[in-house]
Amino acid sequence: MSKTIAVIRGDGIGPEIMNATLRVLDALDCGLDYEFVEAGMEALEKHGELLPAATLDTIAKHSIALKSPLTTPVGGGFSSINVQLRRHFDLYANVRPAISFPGTKARFENIDIITVRENTEGAYLSEGQTLSEDGETASSMIRTTRRGCNRIVRYAFEMARSKGRKKVTAVHKANIMKTTSGLFLNVAREIAKEYPDIEFNELIVDNTCMQLVMRPEQFDVIVTTNLFGDILSDLCAGLVGGLGLAPGSNIGAEAAIFEAVHGSAPDIAGKGVANPCALLLAAADMLDHLGMAEKGTRIRTAIRETLAAGDRTTPDLGGSGTTDSFADALVERV
Ligand code: NAD
Repeated sequence: MSKTIAVIRGDGIGPEIMNATLRVLDALDCGLDYEFVEAGMEALEKHGELLPAATLDTIAKHSIALKSPLTTPVGGGFSSINVQLRRHFDLYANVRPAISFPGTKARFENIDIITVRENTEGAYLSEGQTLSEDGETASSMIRTTRRGCNRIVRYAFEMARSKGRKKVTAVHKANIMKTTSGLFLNVAREIAKEYPDIEFNELIVDNTCMQLVMRPEQFDVIVTTNLFGDILSDLCAGLVGGLGLAPGSNIGAEAAIFEAVHGSAPDIAGKGVANPCALLLAAADMLDHLGMAEKGTRIRTAIRETLAAGDRTTPDLGGSGTTDSFADALVERV
């Protein structure tokens, strides 16, 4: 049975890494068809807007999008396309795996942590931000809802169960932020009771940072609020060698968008040396989401084998290959 997904080629290195990723997906024979949609600089030049309504309609129609990084122009009052997509589709769960791969400059081995970050509320609200007239006092608002906590914690436990994970850690700061983080923690404790098959523990965010740096192997799935999740997921990416291998999924009830965590890398765009792994790992997560976990695993295994052999990999990984030669090596292995 075939499934059509929306594909955003993106800006900068976006088209290069997307070509490599689609070549690997095609080699896997997943039965996917692609509808290419415009966003970012290409859409701005052609239609005068970064995120045309037609693009949103196509993503809504297929409910799944694979997205390369997009450049948000500096100045001019443009709001981030990623934030717009998140809001439009209510993509409440930002899922960020950090997995150790061989042949990288990572400090640790055998790390396999998934951070599940609440993506729609908490400290990242656009409303409620004020600056006094004299510029001396700035305020912003944190909003946490029971519904928001409920759905993110439940998502983390359901994901843990479906992926055979053993433990969920709720990360909070309820000792100081008694109302907002306190609500999150109370909801997490309640929901954890419904999943007796999965170990649950809770950890204050500052201690979590220290524990992640000292003994990261103790973590499995982390669930947390927006701001803490943003920071912790980058920390976890750093533990396994940086953003070149960091995928991110944005999941909602009606749609899901899979992407690399890194940006459009304008400094190397057009040179053919971009590392396609982060987008490929996002594609692997997309296959899991579509019920094709075996094919997702084949992508991760091919990346692991290619990196271990140092076979045609890109310069950021210490290789002397190109995006295309890296893709050749992966296509041969999937
Ligand atoms: P960046 O992630 O694009 O680049 C940071 C550094 O990492 C650069 O030196 C770059 O060459 C390198 N790098 C990134 N991805 C790489 C890859 N796949 N292979 C090899 N090297 C890679 O961050 P930036 O320079 O701060 O941002 C550039 C643009 O990307 C900005 O316009 C920003 O708004 C946008 N951005 C988009 C997204 C997104 O669409 N999800 C995320 C972050 C940044």
